[in-house]
Amino acid sequence: MSEDVRKGRIRSIVIVGGGTAGWMAAAALRRHFGPAPIDITLVESSEIGTIGVGEATIPTIRGFYQNLGLDDLEVLRATQGTCKLGIRFKDWMAPGSAFIHPFGLYGQDLNGVGFQHYWTKARAGGEVGAFGEYCLGASLAAAGKFTVPAANPPSSLSIFDWALHFDAALFAQLMRRVAEANGVRRIDAKVVKVNLRPEDGFVASLDLHTGQVVEGDLFIDCSGFRGLLIEEALETGYEDWSQWLFCDRALAVQSQPPESAEPPPYTDVTAHTAGWRWRIPLQHRYGNGYVYSSRHIDDEAAKAELIAAVPDKLLHEPRLIRFTPGRRKKVWNRNVVTLGLASGFLEPLESTSIALIETGIEKLKQLFPDRSFDPAVVDEFNDWSRREMERVRDFVILHYKAAQRGDTPFWRTTRDADIPETLARKVELFRSRGHVARYRWEMFQPPSWLAIFDGFGIWPESWDPALDGVDGAVLAASLNQMRAGVARAVAQAPTHGEFLRRYVAAQ
Ligand code: FAD
Repeated sequence: MSEDVRKGRIRSIVIVGGGTAGWMAAAALRRHFGPAPIDITLVESSEIGTIGVGEATIPTIRGFYQNLGLDDLEVLRATQGTCKLGIRFKDWMAPGSAFIHPFGLYGQDLNGVGFQHYWTKARAGGEVGAFGEYCLGASLAAAGKFTVPAANPPSSLSIFDWALHFDAALFAQLMRRVAEANGVRRIDAKVVKVNLRPEDGFVASLDLHTGQVVEGDLFIDCSGFRGLLIEEALETGYEDWSQWLFCDRALAVQSQPPESAEPPPYTDVTAHTAGWRWRIPLQHRYGNGYVYSSRHIDDEAAKAELIAAVPDKLLHEPRLIRFTPGRRKKVWNRNVVTLGLASGFLEPLESTSIALIETGIEKLKQLFPDRSFDPAVVDEFNDWSRREMERVRDFVILHYKAAQRGDTPFWRTTRDADIPETLARKVELFRSRGHVARYRWEMFQPPSWLAIFDGFGIWPESWDPALDGVDGAVLAASLNQMRAGVARAVAQAPTHGEFLRRYVAAQ
C-alpha cells in the first residue's frame, strides 16, 4: 500500500447515539474491521435515553447477529424474545377478516413458472385450497405452532424462515456487550455542539457537556428522530411522505398477560378506527401500540381506543410518539452517514426499521470511504438507500390501498388517496401478468408481495400461457398432495409456547 493510500484511510469512526442503531453499527463495524487500525467510539447520553420501541424484526436479523458470533437461542434468552413466523393482519379487509404475511415460500415453482400461476389455474377449475395452505410458514403460524426449518429441506415446500420479537432495550444491551468486548469505546455524555470545518462544512468534532471534545474522520448519526448531525448541524432536509402515508403518531404501552397466555408466533396488527394496533408477545411481557393519523383522531380518543383494546394489565401509561413518515434527503452527507431513525422513518407495519439499519450497515461496509469521501461513493450509497426506502414505502402503502375498508374517514382517505407511480406499476404488472417484479436492494421479495396481494384478494384473471396444456385433474392432484404435506408438517410441530418452554426457557 502506498504511503498516500495509507494516509488517506479512515482512522476513527464516531457513532452518536446508543439506541438499537448505534450499538448495532458499533458491533458490526468493529467485527468487520477486526484488527484494522480504526478506532470506533460511541457517544450516548443515558440522560436522554432511547426510543425504547422496535421489538418486531424480519428474518435478516438472524443473519446479522449470527455474523457477530451469536446464535438464535442465545439471543432469544438474552432479550426475552419469542419466535416470529410472520405478521397477522386482522380486520384489514373488514371486521373479522384475517390473513398472515409469512416469511416463507408458497408452493413450488416448476419449469420456471411461479407457483401463483399454477394456483390461479387450479382455482379457475374450482379445485383449490386457500393460497396460504400451500405455505408451511403461514400454516404453522395460523395454527400457533413453531419449529425451526429443516437444515436440508425435503422440498421447497418446506422452506420458510423466521425472525424474532425481542425487548428493544435488552437487544441494544446485547449489541453493546458485543461491541465493547471487541474494543468499541463508549462515552456517556451529551453532545452539546457539532463543530464544522470552515473550509468544507464537514464535521470536525463534537463538544460534550463534560468539556471533552471528540474528533473523528467519519461520523455515524444514530441520534434518533432529531438527526443531531445530519439535520441540526448539516441541514440536509427531509422528504415528507405524508401525502401517501397518513399515520404520524403512535401510543406505545407494555402489558402483562395472564400466566396462561400462549404467545402467538407472529406479530398481530389489527386495523382500528384511524390506523392500526400492534401486539408483540415477549417472554416477560407484551408490547402494544396504536399507530394512527392525527388528522383523523385526537390523542385522547386514540388512547381510549388502545386501552380498551389491550386485553391484559397495562404496565404504565401509554407513551405518545410523534413522527413524520419519510426520509432524509441524503442519508450520507459530507462525512456523516445516518442509520436508524435519524435517516428516516416509516410506520412499523412491516417491521422494517431495524432491517433498514442492517442494510445501511451492509452498504457502508461495501462502500466504506477514504478520507477524500469520493462523491461517487457517497452518491452510490445515497442512490441505493433511496431506492430501497422507496420500495419499502410502496409495500406499506399497498396495504392501505388494497384494504378497501372505507368504513371510517381514515379508511376512506387511505382507500381514495393516490399512490406512487412505482407502486401502481407493480400492482398492474401483477394484475395483468401474475408477475412480481424483483430488484436489488429490495427488502420484500416476491413471496411477500404475493402474501399481501392474496391477503387483500388481488389476483390476475389469467395464468402463464405455458400452463394452458397442463391437465386440470393432474394439477389438482399435485396441489392436493402439497397441501397434505404442509398439513402433516404442521400437525407434527409443537406449539410456539411449547417450543419456548422446551428450548428457550430451559437452560
Ligand atoms: P433511538 O433509540 O432514539 O436512540 C437515539 C440515541 O441517540 C440515544 O442513545 C440517545 O441517548 C442518543 N442521543 C440523542 N441526542 C444525543 C445527544 N445530544 N448527545 C448524546 N447522545 C444523544 N422497528 C422495527 O424494526 N420493528 C418494530 O416493530 C418497530 N416498532 C416501532 C414502533 C414505533 C412507534 C416507532 C417510533 C419505531 C419503531 N421501530 C421499529 C423503529 C425502531 O424503534 C428504531 O429503528 C430503532 O429503535 C432504532 O432507533 P435509533 O437507535 O435510531 O434511535
